[in-house]
Amino acid sequence: MFQDLNINKYLLNAIEDLGFEKPTPIQAEAFPVIKSGKDVIGISQTGTGKTMAYMMPILNDLKFSSQVNPRVLVLVPTRELVAQVLENIEEYSKYITLRAVGVYGGTNINTQAQSVMQGCDIVVGTPGRLYDLTLNNSLSLKAIKKLVIDEVDVMLDLGFRFQLTNIFELLPVKRQNIMFSATMTEDVEELIADFFEETHKIAIAISGTPLENIQQVCYPVWNFYTKVNLLAHLLRNKKEYTKVLIFIDSKAKADRLHSNLDEVHYIKSGVVHSNKSQNYRFKSIEDFDSGRSRVLIATDVMARGLDLDQITHVICFDTPEYPENYMHRIGRTGRAEHEGKSILLYTEKEKRYKDDIEELMKITIEEIPFPEEEVEINHKLTPEERPKVKELNTRVKRTVGGASSHERSEKNSKTPMGGSYRRKLAEKYKKPKTRGDKNQNKKKR
Ligand code: AMP
Repeated sequence: MFQDLNINKYLLNAIEDLGFEKPTPIQAEAFPVIKSGKDVIGISQTGTGKTMAYMMPILNDLKFSSQVNPRVLVLVPTRELVAQVLENIEEYSKYITLRAVGVYGGTNINTQAQSVMQGCDIVVGTPGRLYDLTLNNSLSLKAIKKLVIDEVDVMLDLGFRFQLTNIFELLPVKRQNIMFSATMTEDVEELIADFFEETHKIAIAISGTPLENIQQVCYPVWNFYTKVNLLAHLLRNKKEYTKVLIFIDSKAKADRLHSNLDEVHYIKSGVVHSNKSQNYRFKSIEDFDSGRSRVLIATDVMARGLDLDQITHVICFDTPEYPENYMHRIGRTGRAEHEGKSILLYTEKEKRYKDDIEELMKITIEEIPFPEEEVEINHKLTPEERPKVKELNTRVKRTVGGASSHERSEKNSKTPMGGSYRRKLAEKYKKPKTRGDKNQNKKKR
């Protein structure tokens, strides 16, 4: 019962309006610890009610004030999450007077500077923009009493550690630190060890445990284009597949899948990844959430932390290399105790990633045979799938049996062509040329 958690009647009324009957496990565990003022790290998957878990005890203790400088700072990794946390604060604070402001990059900094300068109690922001606002003196963090870092693992994945450190330096030493992470990674542990002391750990589900209300299946599939055929075959069942979130690990592949579904199979979908404009992303998510569009394609980073209601299916178009990413993906369905389904498509090459996922979850994902009768195999390969063509060796070949010492020393005295060619290129272009998009080769996106 929410009544047992010692929260005031204004908040209880707001909870009642939302129709929530009882606290979720993370809420029941986190409320008292956060209220006690201890530093906390909550390990909890998204969709388990963690926003309310940290926000309710904070709102409960936040007295009315008209001071300019905020007392609560919430750091989140993406702009979408800023909007979502603000929306939740608005719902929870329906019967109290509260000023909450959101700040994030990619939009006009002056407008945001003006709104924080008018004064606020809670500021919710992404680290980069928040730090910029402190640098231009629009925002002071000297009154912060509570710091929340949500999705710490994503935050560190995105390379925000440096910005976080900068922000920590501007905060009063005496404050409460509240962190939430879906997975406990080495990076998260290191951050806690470096900056916080005696952090109380609350873990609801062991990191990597699947939500029980998600039915998981997988299909072995040959290649990208055959996966598209299978996906299109599944999506034609409009009755069952009413709200489908498709995960894919790169922006280029997301775009390729989007256009292939449209042009070859006449299936419309929305796409969200970080190369799309803010407006395009907001619109794609809104269309999907409101039911105007049935299919949304997303990269991992963009979709993590998004609170999308009632997703019927999560489809992992590729198999994530990091098993935690799979956990995050499937966690997008089956939220708030609804039933959900997840489908994993894996190629021969991706099988070892599937094995890692199964090892982490300690279960075997039910395998459905590829429906050969109904779905055509497409042998066309994508640039990533094509076998790498070996570079022609332009050096002088050794004679069979190996060169004599005399021949070898003569050869060694010559300048190798590869080296001199690269040096010439380096001179011309100032830096070595690399093949392909470097970002494509990065593990984290
Ligand atoms: P979160 O983990 O914060 O993303 O929350 C996931 C979803 O659960 C959100 O849509 C919340 O509105 C909903 N939710 C949060 N707390 C409760 C609760 N006690 N009972 C039912 N639904 C909840």
